[in-house]
Amino acid sequence: MINTFSQPVIDIKNLDHFFGSGEQRKQALFDINLEIYAGEIVIMTGPSGSGKTTLLTLIGGLRSVQSGSLKFLGQELCGATPRQLVKVRRQAGYIFQAHNLHGSLTALHNVRMGLEIHSQYSVKEMKEMATHILQEVGLGNRLNHYPDNLSGGQKQRVAIARALVNHPQLLLADEPTAALDSKSGRDVVTLMQKLAKEQGCTILLVTHDNRILDVADRTVYMEDGILKSNQLATAK
Ligand code: ADP
Ligand code: MG
Repeated sequence: MINTFSQPVIDIKNLDHFFGSGEQRKQALFDINLEIYAGEIVIMTGPSGSGKTTLLTLIGGLRSVQSGSLKFLGQELCGATPRQLVKVRRQAGYIFQAHNLHGSLTALHNVRMGLEIHSQYSVKEMKEMATHILQEVGLGNRLNHYPDNLSGGQKQRVAIARALVNHPQLLLADEPTAALDSKSGRDVVTLMQKLAKEQGCTILLVTHDNRILDVADRTVYMEDGILKSNQLATAK
């Protein structure tokens, strides 16, 4: 449910974004306005090159906001210092199309890496937290497996565990099912939905996969750098 009384997790106003400079300068985002509330699952669709990844990376503090306003939990990212951006990144979890796991580390160690940016935990605590979340994603019997010995769906579940082990406020997922068959893709999305609901985490998910649109509370559609539609899901 959208709670119109609470502060949005994400509040974007008149956001533009440009790549390159001089003659190469090209506008990738045009006057984006979008609010996302706590606990919402928002799915973003749109053709390749329409600006979805650009918008996602701006929201996650992975790229500097140039023009307009983008607030993450009330913190303005336009003109934010590198230190403020680091703080934002720590409050978000990321899942990409490719799982981006470290091939030389076990599943358990990959997930622990998600915690090592938070120095308040001891090694023992990190191991326990990583083990627990891997059990939750159904990989309790694969803790010491290396990515090469896991299926595509299992790797993406490790990536989910890594993204959620910190209990982030916001989960950003960029085409997380693109490399998976339809059954594994469905399972991965259902799992993200379940864990995020349990943790009270907000999700912004980019996908081309029409089969998973039903998990959304709201869908937004991007085309040519413009946010063309922003609709509440009807039948749920
Ligand atoms: P999508 O994720 O919807 O496929 P992107 O956000 O990746 O779209 O790209 C939007 C537009 O910005 C495209 O025209 C793309 O070529 C351009 N673009 C994306 N990243 C860069 C970059 N690092 N440098 C220059 N242009 C870029
Ligand atoms: Mg993209």
